[in-house]
Amino acid sequence: MKQSLIRVWQSFDIEQIKKQLLLAGELTANCENCQHLGIDFVKEVKCPNCETYFKYIGFRTKNNKAEELFAIKRLAEKRPDLMIIDYEDIKRACGKSQARNLLDI
Ligand SMILES: [Zn+2]
Repeated sequence: MKQSLIRVWQSFDIEQIKKQLLLAGELTANCENCQHLGIDFVKEVKCPNCETYFKYIGFRTKNNKAEELFAIKRLAEKRPDLMIIDYEDIKRACGKSQARNLLDI
């Protein structure tokens, strides 16, 4: 059976995601909960600093879509235990809630 990556749109509580989010860079990741840097996202199941168990892994979108797909495939292969999140969605949702706070609505 051929497996393919597909994007799924689902409603989430952004603040809840941010508490258990590992944000992956090229080589290492950081904990979105405490901002601890240099986490090995291939093997760490919890943050070495705040001991949060990760449930989600985010990635920054790249301009080169082929590179981006390769990075996502790599994350999916290395961390099947984590849900892959597009960090742009998190940023967009946070921007919206910050705007609401500024406008007090
Ligand atoms: Zn942490």
